[in-house]
Amino acid sequence: MVSFDDATSSSTGFNDLDDIADMLDEAPGGMRRGVPELKIHIQGQKTILENFTKIVTEFKREPKHIKKYISTELGVQTKIKGDQLEIGSIIRDDTLRKTLEAYVEVYITCPKCGKPDTRFKSQSKKKVEVQCLACGNQYRQPGL
Ligand SMILES: [Zn+2]
Repeated sequence: MVSFDDATSSSTGFNDLDDIADMLDEAPGGMRRGVPELKIHIQGQKTILENFTKIVTEFKREPKHIKKYISTELGVQTKIKGDQLEIGSIIRDDTLRKTLEAYVEVYITCPKCGKPDTRFKSQSKKKVEVQCLACGNQYRQPGL
């Protein structure tokens, strides 16, 4: 009288646990769309993003491209200084965060599968060709 379907029932149980874990990962307020915590300080009339290099590294994009995006979106001068980005105006934390979230949305997140595993195949002032390494999707976004 030994039950022989134990293996089947326990594997179903594991799937349920995975689903719950996924739901917890996406709890409202917890997700920040892959933007690391910003370290910012104001210096006179300038805003210094102290951990610019760290953000660039996490985004896996060229520093110049992100710099240009911030500059264009906020209509400000920007300058890379070592690991920092100097912004020629006083910018609020949440404004900068929203700008970077928009960058992630446009240039990093695959619109088909929602994963951030994308790379630029080519880029010009007019357009960027993006390729998703997760699902193979290829798409275009406006250039900078
Ligand atoms: Zn994809």
